[in-house]
Order: sequence, then C-alpha cells, then structure tokens
Amino acid sequence: MARPPFTIESVDDGAQNAAQPQGQLPPAVPIDISLAEGAIARIRKQVQGNGLRPSSVELKGMSGQVYAFFATTSVKLVPAVQEGRRAGRFSDGQIIQPGQIDASIQEFIGRAAADRGVLGLVHQTVLSRADHGFGAVGDPIPLPQVGRVFVAHEACGACRGAGGTSCHNCHGQMRITCYRCHGQGGVPCVTCTGRGQILTPQGPVMCHACAGRGLSACPVCQGQRMIVCPECQGQGRRVCESCQGQGWNTRSWSVTLTAQTTFRMRTKGLPPSLVQLIDRVGGARLAADHHARITPILGKDAENWSHEADIEPGASLWFLYQAEIPYAELEIAMGKHTIKPRLAGYKARMVDVPDFMDMLLRPGAQYLADAAQGGAGASQLILTASRYRALGDVLRGLIRTAPKRVLKSLNEAYPLGLSDPFAKKIVKDASTALSRLSLWPRSMVMLASLALTFIVLGGYYMYGGRAALAGGLPFIAALVVDLVLVAALAFGGTYAIRFIARRSLRTVLEGLGVVAGGNLPMPNPGVPGLWMWIGAFGIALALSVISGLWAMI
Ligand SMILES: [Zn+2]
Ligand SMILES: [Zn+2]
Ligand SMILES: [Zn+2]
Ligand SMILES: [Zn+2]
Repeated sequence: MARPPFTIESVDDGAQNAAQPQGQLPPAVPIDISLAEGAIARIRKQVQGNGLRPSSVELKGMSGQVYAFFATTSVKLVPAVQEGRRAGRFSDGQIIQPGQIDASIQEFIGRAAADRGVLGLVHQTVLSRADHGFGAVGDPIPLPQVGRVFVAHEACGACRGAGGTSCHNCHGQMRITCYRCHGQGGVPCVTCTGRGQILTPQGPVMCHACAGRGLSACPVCQGQRMIVCPECQGQGRRVCESCQGQGWNTRSWSVTLTAQTTFRMRTKGLPPSLVQLIDRVGGARLAADHHARITPILGKDAENWSHEADIEPGASLWFLYQAEIPYAELEIAMGKHTIKPRLAGYKARMVDVPDFMDMLLRPGAQYLADAAQGGAGASQLILTASRYRALGDVLRGLIRTAPKRVLKSLNEAYPLGLSDPFAKKIVKDASTALSRLSLWPRSMVMLASLALTFIVLGGYYMYGGRAALAGGLPFIAALVVDLVLVAALAFGGTYAIRFIARRSLRTVLEGLGVVAGGNLPMPNPGVPGLWMWIGAFGIALALSVISGLWAMI
C-alpha cells in the first residue's frame, strides 16, 4: 500500500499559499484583470502602424476564473542491477546462495521501500527539483546513496574446485623426453654425417669432429635426454583459466535504486478546451514555464486530500499537488470587429486567436500583389503598401537580407493573429515587386530610345546623312562609320535605361526610408537593354537595305 509523504519543512519556497481548510476546495478565484490587460497591450503593440489605432483595441469582456485541479506524482523504486564475476573468493558484500539472488533483491527493495530514511531521501530529492516533481515523467531519478552488493561463492565447474589439472603434456612429470634427440642425448655428427670417418683421396680417415664416434652432443638437451615441459613450464600442473587456479568464483550483484515517476492530472470537470490545452502543453511545461501555479500538498494535508490523488499501483511514495491556472474567454473590440480569443495561464498566453493581422494587412498586401505584376505604377504601389508598418519592415528587410530571414522576423514581430500562409504571401509578393520594380520604366525608356534611333538612322540612311558623313570614304571605312554610329545609339539607349532604373529605385528606397546615398550603383539594364541593342542593329540593317546601299555592291 502506498504511504503518504512526510512533512519536510525545507521545501517551502514561498510559492505555497496559506493552508486551506482540511478537505475543502478553495472558492473560485476571479482572474486578475492585469493578465487580460497584458494581453491587450500585446495586441495594441501589433496593430500600431498597421491600419488600426491602438486605442481602438479594447477589452469588452472577460469570463473565466482561476481553475484549480489536483495532480499526483507516484514514485516507484526500481532496482538497477549490475552483475559481475571474479575469480577467487571474495566477501565484499552480503553473502548469499547463488539461487537466492532474485528473492534477495526483492527483499532489499521491500525493505528500502519501508525504510523511513530511504523514503525521506527520495522525498527530498523529488521535492528539491525545480518543479517539485510536478510533471516529472520519464527519466528516472538515480539514488546512488541507496544500494547494496550481494555476492555468492561458486566452486569452479571447470576444474571441479581443484584450481587446475595435471599437465597433459608431461602428465605431472614436469619434464619430457627431448624432442631433438628422442632421448638419445646425442645427434649424428654433422662433419661425418654419423659415419665416424671421412673419405679422402688417400682413403678413409677418422672424423676428428666426433673422435670417430659419429655422434655429437644434442644441442637442445645438452646430452641430458630430458627437457623442462614447455606446456607447464615445469610446474606439472595446468592452472584453471576459469578460476585462475583459485578453485572458486565469486558472482556479484550490485543493486542500486532509481526512483521512477509517473504523473497524472485530474482535469475532469475543467472546461474541455482548457483540458485540451493542458494535455497539449503537458505537466512539465505547465510548471517550468510558470503557466500554472503549483503547490505541493504536504504532511497531514496530503492525508486529508488523499482521495484526490491518482496513485500508481505499486508506488512506494506519492506527491499530491494543487495546480492553479487562469483561463478565460476574452471579448476584444478591434475597431468595428470583435474577436474572442482565450486567455490561459499566468503568462497570459492567448489561444484560439483569429487571424486579425491578416485582416488588417489585407488592403496593403493587395498593393504588394499588384506591384508584383510590375505595372506602370509599381513604385507608387510599393510605397503605398509600405505605409503599413509590417509591410514596410518586410520591404526594408528584403533590401538588406534574404526572404527566409525576413519571414522569420515577421513571424517573431507578430506572434498573434498572423497566419502562416498570409505571412509567406506577403514576403513573396514584396520580393517579386522589388525585383520587378523598374521593369516598366526601363521598358518605356527602351521604346523611346528605339524611336529616337529610328529617326536618327532614317536621316542617316534615307536623307543624305550618310553621303555627307562618309561619302568620300572607301567602302570598308564607311561601313566602320555606320557601325560606330549604331553602337553609339544603342549604348546611349542602354545608358538611359539604366539611368531611369536607378532613379525609380532611388525613389522607392527613399520612400521606404532606406538611405540610398549619392553613389547608388547603376542597376543592370536587364532584358530591355538587350532589346535596345538588337533593335538598334535591326533598324540599321532594315534602313540600309531599303536605302539601296547593298544593291550597289
Ligand atoms: Zn577452476
Ligand atoms: Zn607439463
Ligand atoms: Zn663425426
Ligand atoms: Zn636431446
């Protein structure tokens, strides 16, 4: 049976309320209005400069209260066993019979779970956590102070307790017959190959190396006929590897305890949407992020309230908490509209917030979408859109940094009521609008420049200009004059395109409040510039053909 927790005085951190009367729930507490005011302030900060006066955001109503509910953390003591085996007989633990280990561990746990010292330690460990154990699930709490080592002695099975066997090589004799001379003590003489004499042209003579015996002393046993057994190094025994010659092994079980916690919240009876929220956030974050106020119920109070505890079967210890969380439905007037978000927790988080920022920014976003088409008034459209603070920030951001980062800071600046797809669309349209900003003026200047080119080349080819300028020159030299003239016209047109592009860019940058500086680089002429060159040479070719220049060749 689970036991109630002890009274531990040292955990009072000031968060605990005055003790409630025994077994009686506190009366419903109204929500501090300052929580709602904080939420309103955050909305006001967002709407400012975005098409709605902050003063037109008003709290019209708030219905809700501080809800209280109970939660229980159950603690089970779970053993962690580390097994080992050593050669020899050691008694550095509680000695048991090898078969008794499971029963011994059970007995140890049972005794630890009943030990006031152990339970007090667990109690203190849990309550001294930052969350006082509220919401604690998953990672077990190690209790290295509580542990025991069990040892059991076993006779070595490999050597039957003897510690070794007699050497199978020398059969315990410690020496073996010499393998080189097979116990002869000598080997055939190398000089005479064992014959005792050497053949010479004068006939056989006696071998001096072996004095005619045909044998020389064995180099391995030096004539002793026996050698020390190499297998047992002359011990006559082979030491048992399993017990290292001890004849015994010691098995050991090092048992430590860990406290494993489970956590349950009794949210029945709370508004269903609050229950959903609590389940989604989870107990651990509820406490850690201070959304809820948590009060451990200790000592006698815990006994009085034990009917509110959801204790895990088999738990050695349990902790009961009272959690309080404000939860209300707000009614907020925003100009002509009213939104009804919910306010939850002491951090005054708002949930179920409608996309009011989408609504506010929609007209400005439409200007951006139009500007992204790159029409005549693109720069004016961009400047109109930038009157919305959020859109102006996006445009200024895009001039300095990548769209992805601009989107991120947009979402950070407007955490409430700005939907993800809408934020993405804003950044995309603004980015397109900026990149196509000067397409229209560039195209217009290109057309004007081409018209001018046509007039100049018409005069040159059709009305005697060429005859006056290059009439007396040889054919090739006159052709060079043609080319220089056309290139000058195309170059001038391209310069005009770039000049006008820079001017429209400067207008927008200055309108956005970005300091452009005097040395704004000339923008790329882009596609209109290419058409300027193609057009100039096309016109020159066509007019020169019409004028009959080529027919003369
Ligand atoms: Zn052995
Ligand atoms: Zn041996
Ligand atoms: Zn010899
Ligand atoms: Zn030998």
